[in-house]
Amino acid sequence: MNLIHIHNLKKIYKPEVKNGEQAIEVQALQGVNLTISQGEYVSIMGPSGSGKSTLMQILGLLDRPTSGEYLFLGKDVSKLSGEELAYLRSRYVGFVFQFFNLLARTSALENVELPLIYSHVPQSKTKAQKVLTQVGLQDRLHHAPHQLSGGQQQRVAIARALVNNPKIIFADEPTGNVNQEQAKEIMKTLSILHAQGVTIVLVTHDPQVASHAERTIKIVDGKIFSDESKKITPRVHEELKPPQIKKFGLMNSAEMKENFKMAVGSLKLNKLRTGLTMLGIIIGVAAVITMVALGQGAQKSIEESLKSLGSNLLMIRPGSPKLGHVRRESGDSTRITLEDAKAIKSLKEVGLPIDDISTEVTGQVQVVYGNKNWNTRLQGVSANYAELHASNPTIGRFFSEAENETKKRVCVLGKTVYENLFENGQNPVGSIIKINRVNFKVLGILPAKGGSAWGDRDDVIVTPVTTAMQRILGKDYLNSMDVQVTDAESMDRAIAGISELLRKKHRLSQGQEDDFSIRNMAEIQEALSSTTKIMALLLGAIAAISLFVGGIGIMNIMLVSVKERTKEIGLRKALGARQSDVLLQFLIEAIMIGLVGGAIGIFMGGISSFSINIIFGWATHISISAVIISFLFSFAIGVIFGFWPARQASLLSPIEALRYE
Ligand code: ADP
Ligand code: MG
Repeated sequence: MNLIHIHNLKKIYKPEVKNGEQAIEVQALQGVNLTISQGEYVSIMGPSGSGKSTLMQILGLLDRPTSGEYLFLGKDVSKLSGEELAYLRSRYVGFVFQFFNLLARTSALENVELPLIYSHVPQSKTKAQKVLTQVGLQDRLHHAPHQLSGGQQQRVAIARALVNNPKIIFADEPTGNVNQEQAKEIMKTLSILHAQGVTIVLVTHDPQVASHAERTIKIVDGKIFSDESKKITPRVHEELKPPQIKKFGLMNSAEMKENFKMAVGSLKLNKLRTGLTMLGIIIGVAAVITMVALGQGAQKSIEESLKSLGSNLLMIRPGSPKLGHVRRESGDSTRITLEDAKAIKSLKEVGLPIDDISTEVTGQVQVVYGNKNWNTRLQGVSANYAELHASNPTIGRFFSEAENETKKRVCVLGKTVYENLFENGQNPVGSIIKINRVNFKVLGILPAKGGSAWGDRDDVIVTPVTTAMQRILGKDYLNSMDVQVTDAESMDRAIAGISELLRKKHRLSQGQEDDFSIRNMAEIQEALSSTTKIMALLLGAIAAISLFVGGIGIMNIMLVSVKERTKEIGLRKALGARQSDVLLQFLIEAIMIGLVGGAIGIFMGGISSFSINIIFGWATHISISAVIISFLFSFAIGVIFGFWPARQASLLSPIEALRYE
């Protein structure tokens, strides 16, 4: 069977139109007819620019003709897809180029392995080694191209062309860049291959080189000028059948490994560039991790302090619920009083599920002890405050309900107040201090509560609520009441009973709004969780923006990388890489940038949350889910923003890419 049969083949190059100027077409091939049988050794000669390389590239399935017929082993090439052409290139065709076209910084062995990897042939290393030994390079396996002479490089290229047992080898001026001695070696290798039954098509302008061939075709101006054969005794070892093009899997482990190696290599080669590209992702992920850690830490500590208050608590404040906490100052009815508190407490007797009630009044006061004075917040409370707010004194005692009812002038000091009035280590119990010029006896010191977002919780002085109202602040109303309900199920009943009572006491008519508000912990928790939701939304927005910016960075650098490596892409395609192979190679590189950036970002986020915790004492909490989500996001960013550049690379035509300078 004819290996190659072409009829009236034309190739016209139409250069891109620039600035509206009429570009001149180049008719590189002008109707070529040619048949090459299996086992032939053909040389193609002709002056420079006559169309030799163009013909070779079309014959080698790297380029498509503008018109005309081309049958490769009886198969009409014009009907084959890019994928199918890649298959034929990898199984039937070997290329040797004038400029070697080896992958830089890649050993001879790995260069020769490439075609095997792309056609998923197992044991690629052993096979590549065998072929390199065949061309006499057994002791140069691990040399990179720049460590080899021109002749040696060309022999590596020949080994690469041979490794897949091609049926035909195209060599375009293989001796053009080597010295005479090396040229002889190369020609000898080709002759041996020919003797083994491989068909050889050789382009040269050196008659000496051409003389090795049995048939010489001369081309002038894109047409065949002469076609002479020395002796036509084609050696056919086994008759080739029309090729069966098989589909095979996306990527096997060897190719996966190759892609990883390439990705790591290319990222390492441009360390600074890669680092700067990753910066977007790193900063984004680190910011998100830190913010989420802070947010969750804050939420946790709020939840804990709410839990310590108990979930059966009702808080009663003056003022309409619609107006929030704004208190209308006119009229007694807008206020809640100790009398209201007593009335609520007595509801217990008529069967309302109330356990306890605590009352509170607050104000700002001046306290003096000896020559020291301090301005602080006064909290007048009922005796059960100590229990309800986990405030039993560490030193001394809290006041009793009897002391509250008899308006005793006794007080308990917050830690900050104590520190500002007394010497370090001095026992204050029993001392007399002045609150707004009235003498008070100190009963004890409250346990330290630490700072919070709302200020120092230890900067406080606590007295009985009746004493505070009448002897210090001169108020006859309360700031708030807390009602402890028996159990969570009875909350609604308690609220209904209390508001009915308060409305009656405040003489509110049917249509009037409440002049007090009753809130339960559930409501407060809800308000908090909605705050948390807003925070999460904000964090999400920050994350989205920073990761988007990071993603654009990746896309940008991947486009540069594709441009830079255009020639390499062309070469890989010439060696049998399919579109999907190239796509995956670049996608893996982009994903790697995303993932490495993400991992560094997570690490940095961890460090910064930890430092914030140490330096500022703010609670932080890094959750596993935040880490996993960040990682998945980095992966997704790599895929999303790497896809377009990778696709761009995969769509390059092999010959255009190979010619790219
Ligand atoms: P040879 O290999 O015989 O020296 P080529 O086949 O490389 O010649 O080129 C044949 C003609 O086609 C030349 O005139 C060249 O300028 C033109 N040519 C080759 N490649 C391109 C291209 N990609 N675009 C436009 N013109 C081209
Ligand atoms: Mg040429």
